Amino acid sequence: MTDVIVIGSGIGGLSCAALLARYGLEVTVLESHSIPGGAAHAFERQGFKFDSGPSLYSGLSYSPSVNPLRQVLDAIGVDLPCVNYDTWGCRLPEGDFNTSVGGDQFCEVLVKLRGEDAVKEWRQLQRVMTPLAQAAIALPPAALRLDIGAALTVGKFAPLLAQHATNVLKLTGSFDRIMNGVIRDPFIRNWLNLLCFLLSGLPASGTNAAEVAFMFADWYKPGVMLDYPVGGSGALVNALVEGLEKHGGKLILSSHVEQILVEGKRAVGVRLRNGEEIRARRAVVSNASVWDTLKLVPETTLPAKFRTQRQAIPECDSFMHLHLGIDAQNLATDLACHYIVVNDWGLGITAPQNVILVSIPSIIDPSLAPPGKHVIHVYTPGNEPYAPWEGMERRSREYEEKKRSRAEVMWQALERIIPDIRSRCEITLVGTPLTHERFLRRHRGTYGPAISAAVGLFPGHSTPLPGLMCCGDSTFPGIGLPAVAASGMIVANTLAPISQHLAMLKDIGLQ
Ligand SMILES: Cc1cc2nc3c(=O)[nH]c(=O)nc-3n(C[C@H](O)[C@H](O)[C@H](O)COP(=O)(O)OP(=O)(O)OC[C@H]3O[C@@H](n4cnc5c(N)ncnc54)[C@H](O)[C@@H]3O)c2cc1C
Repeated sequence: MTDVIVIGSGIGGLSCAALLARYGLEVTVLESHSIPGGAAHAFERQGFKFDSGPSLYSGLSYSPSVNPLRQVLDAIGVDLPCVNYDTWGCRLPEGDFNTSVGGDQFCEVLVKLRGEDAVKEWRQLQRVMTPLAQAAIALPPAALRLDIGAALTVGKFAPLLAQHATNVLKLTGSFDRIMNGVIRDPFIRNWLNLLCFLLSGLPASGTNAAEVAFMFADWYKPGVMLDYPVGGSGALVNALVEGLEKHGGKLILSSHVEQILVEGKRAVGVRLRNGEEIRARRAVVSNASVWDTLKLVPETTLPAKFRTQRQAIPECDSFMHLHLGIDAQNLATDLACHYIVVNDWGLGITAPQNVILVSIPSIIDPSLAPPGKHVIHVYTPGNEPYAPWEGMERRSREYEEKKRSRAEVMWQALERIIPDIRSRCEITLVGTPLTHERFLRRHRGTYGPAISAAVGLFPGHSTPLPGLMCCGDSTFPGIGLPAVAASGMIVANTLAPISQHLAMLKDIGLQ
């Protein structure tokens, strides 16, 4: 018996659990995989430390930060040393160049590629976004809770919100309404669509304006730097687990939850695959995706309409991955940590095999690879359809052949950065939507819900089944790490006494 069971140790689940533990609740995280972290888990082969997923972080190396993930780390009192950098490489149809976060450098890129008129448009967008960015951060998600207590916790921010009221209204709906009013230049439009796709898995027409405003607040301010946790995404996961355990919480790995137990019309615990039952006094929180959570709840205990609506939520596509451990002898010395490769803007930013991301984090954190080596993760971000892979036998020749042909686009992208890459590999791991589905326990290996900001809202954290709440990338717009950390905080806050919630806000510098 425990107070709260959290199903899943993704960054959303760990953020929620660690904060609950800080609030003094007895919390147990049950993770199906043998490694914690979900999409952000790390794994090691022959001394190479791989990030399975995220590698692009910001707002983690200073406090108070607008990044809810940093706020969680502050609230649970753990450190996360980061290295900083500001530049990434682009391999776009327009050519090869580097670009940086910060207020001005993108204008230098624009002058070269598009001329002064494009710079004027970008500057105008920056002017339009500045007050919107302020509005986007006026109410930190850390203040949110889903009960009447929000009057107090959110109320503290009311004066600031009132100052930004008009702009807050502009943040609802999709970003393209703002973009269309300012930007005509086709390259900038493509660029913004790309950034939106990386944020939400959707182009500007589907991406929430608040998400983009938050990014502008974070990336395009003077002097800003990007962060990378020393030790990779595994270090982030370890920091959250450290915080959880420091406050008395428990993480149990290799514990697949088969069913949520319902008694007296209330979620009261879970049954594991091995038959063991664990009961929760206060709540069961699912960090599994919206579709995977439905599979855990007995058919008759949720209203049919709710089940049908949730099941019908459209999903983003999945991923192809290349994880490589390479010999770095005589490599170019000016390699960047990250690259974005776009093959053809005309295909549309969400087209399969069109956008490829490359991460070489050992460039800035040599601890990730043996001396003289590099660790590389190449992936097609949420644009690999699941359907052609569905039902394939993973040991079949057909599967091997498909892997080979669908991975080719990633090799070709990497050859634009390291021409002799194929002869340097000491470890080569190719991941498909089936790998993604299997290791991340995610429905159809999806990136997350494809909910267009123009038409709908994310499912949120509550369910019609008392005692069952949800956190993670199915619940809060943005999908990335800041969004899932925010989702975990909101659920934890809701289960905590208001006094503790207010004390937490004070401790992390938000009051
Ligand atoms: C390749 C890739 C690159 C990315 N890059 C970035 C980036 O650079 N920056 C960024 O901010 N975001 C990035 N993201 C997005 C970010 O990583 C995810 O949105 C986030 O990690 C999802 O966290 P989560 O808590 O919602 O869920 P998940 O990570 O999916 O975790 C859910 C957990 O629940 C467990 N689980 C599921 N069902 C059960 C069950 N029945 N019993 C027990 N356990 C269960 C799973 O095993 C998993 O550990 C990237 C994602 C991917 C895939």
